[in-house]
Amino acid sequence: SSWWKHVEPAPKDPILGVTEAFLADPNPDKVNVGVGAYRDDNGKPVVLDCVREAERRIAGNMNMEYLPMGGSNKMVEETLKLAYGDDSDLIKDKRIAAVQALSGTGACRLFADFQKRFSPDSQIYIPVPTWSNHHNIWRDANVPQRTFHYYHPESKGLDFASLMDDVKNAPNGSFFLLHACAHNPTGVDPTEEQWKEISYQFKVKGHFAFFDMAYQGFASGDPERDAKSIRIFLEDGHLIGCSQSYAKNMGLYGQRVGCLSLVCEDEKQAVAVKSQLQQIARPMYSNPPVHGALVVSTILSDPDLKQVWLKEVKGMADRIIGMRSALKENIEKLGSPLSWEHITKQIGMFCYSGMTPEQVDRLTNEFHIYMTRNGRISMAGVTTGNVEYLAKAIHEVTK
Ligand code: PMP
Repeated sequence: SSWWKHVEPAPKDPILGVTEAFLADPNPDKVNVGVGAYRDDNGKPVVLDCVREAERRIAGNMNMEYLPMGGSNKMVEETLKLAYGDDSDLIKDKRIAAVQALSGTGACRLFADFQKRFSPDSQIYIPVPTWSNHHNIWRDANVPQRTFHYYHPESKGLDFASLMDDVKNAPNGSFFLLHACAHNPTGVDPTEEQWKEISYQFKVKGHFAFFDMAYQGFASGDPERDAKSIRIFLEDGHLIGCSQSYAKNMGLYGQRVGCLSLVCEDEKQAVAVKSQLQQIARPMYSNPPVHGALVVSTILSDPDLKQVWLKEVKGMADRIIGMRSALKENIEKLGSPLSWEHITKQIGMFCYSGMTPEQVDRLTNEFHIYMTRNGRISMAGVTTGNVEYLAKAIHEVTK
């Protein structure tokens, strides 16, 4: 007899399932705009030059010892500078508890477990919509979830009024998950003015802001500019939490390198919080992997290599921004009477097209174009070679 008779197959992941279906399609014209990974203009995965150079420097020069439980201190130090600013007083005053995490997912999960352990009765407010894995992460950490308004389907922009209402109506001292920039899946971010109002209202209500920053540099091409939301909150004195990932902005997807940080009242509190984060990591994975962390610290601690990286992030962001214009122009050229302004207004890797699940099904079945049924187009999968075909197909199913 089997121990596992009662085990049913798990539901397919809505994002990872798309790639499976794409790979199984023999049609030569097939297009994958489902993946959340950057591709070059030939549709090929990219390894950045700065990463190749860092690997050359590392090769033969590293041992395979364990990192400390909190990961590479050098990597964490450089990573905090990106989020909090090179000359952040919080860093100088050692007020940030930070540990290396298994990319952005691992940072979110570590925080969710920490939240459950040290604020056991709290809930998490999550935007509608959000990256689908956020729901899984806080569910598995046993933190009850609430939602707040974010996207406005009619305008395909931000539902700022409803968002602010939800912030005001949440019980004082609630936990909120915010996307620092390049909101996934909508590509819709608050403006600087709106961030200021959100930060102010969070202050009034005593809410906690947890920033998931998976795309720093990917939105505008400039990591400093993309950290603006966080900096506004810091200026207002918020003790924020932050998840950082090098999956997208350094192309280190499979290396699983990221960072979780929590701003504390003073150094003593930061030491305590960090020790507890390590305590949560210990029985899960003991300590994080070493190679990716070394790649990151090698790049960011060398001013020349860092410049190479900054140029390359900007290159990726610019290609995506260029493809947004190309897609919009091509659809308009076909005479579509609909408005496609949102394609260029939205930012980051994704365009939340407004297409219905049925329209997406037609794209897949009739045109071999693969994407999630929520209408999210990964702009990273759009190239000069397929943009015209994609535009024609979109026009056809939205007529
Ligand atoms: N948060 C958001 C909003 C994301 O889009 C992603 C990547 N899809 C992540 C976190 C985490 O990605 P990773 O674990 O690969 O860093």
